[in-house]
Amino acid sequence: MNGLERFFACLLLAVSLPLAASAQEAPRGLLSITFDDASRSQYKHGLRIAKDYDIVGTLFVITSEADGSQRDPNSWFMNWREVRAFRAAGWEIGSHSDTHPHLTQLPTADIIRELDVSREAIEAYVGVRPVSFASPYGDHDARTVGLVTERFSNHLLAWGGTEGRNHPATTDRAMISRMNVNWNTPPEHYCAEIRAAAANGIWLVLMFHQIVESDPEPYTLALNDFEEIMSCAAEARDAGAIRIETVRDAMALISRR
Ligand SMILES: [Zn+2]
Repeated sequence: MNGLERFFACLLLAVSLPLAASAQEAPRGLLSITFDDASRSQYKHGLRIAKDYDIVGTLFVITSEADGSQRDPNSWFMNWREVRAFRAAGWEIGSHSDTHPHLTQLPTADIIRELDVSREAIEAYVGVRPVSFASPYGDHDARTVGLVTERFSNHLLAWGGTEGRNHPATTDRAMISRMNVNWNTPPEHYCAEIRAAAANGIWLVLMFHQIVESDPEPYTLALNDFEEIMSCAAEARDAGAIRIETVRDAMALISRR
């Protein structure tokens, strides 16, 4: 290396070092945890475990079921006090409709009722206007999505063909995809997805239903598996590889990029 080459090598090093440092300060990957239906098991196990790892997410409430749970202490669903506990822990409260119908099969007036009644109930009982909506069963078409996005900032999908790896540059607020966390897939599979999201600058959105102590089946997840996924999410976050944000806050970060 002659003098001139050495000079340019030093210059390159000086320029690239701060870039490398700032890349480490701002994790490229984003992760959102979402709970659908607001089942009591999510309150009893999910909230507690997420809190242990200092993780917040978005809870999608079926508002007529939260109303019903107020009157029935043995309800499968959370009551409003339990929903508010999520809000107090820093979670976003989103709408999952009022009665969980297949929206595409309803007349327009009934879809509007599902959206408006659920939004007003959350405002009344939680004290915050919901900005994210998850379609029941992921069932949607152009008509239902149009009505949803007139009333909510973000529309989330579920199931079929929606793998949950959103590219921040091209994420459509009307079509945010989610990855279902399947009861009989090893947790390591989702840990690998989290690490891949961190490596590739992806916004990964995971969807959870019931969290059970034992004998998981479709629409449930064993408590230990949930804890293992929270543990590796927290590990990736603490290593500076990923940010864990509610859907609302992740969308705000993406639109600022
Ligand atoms: Zn649902």
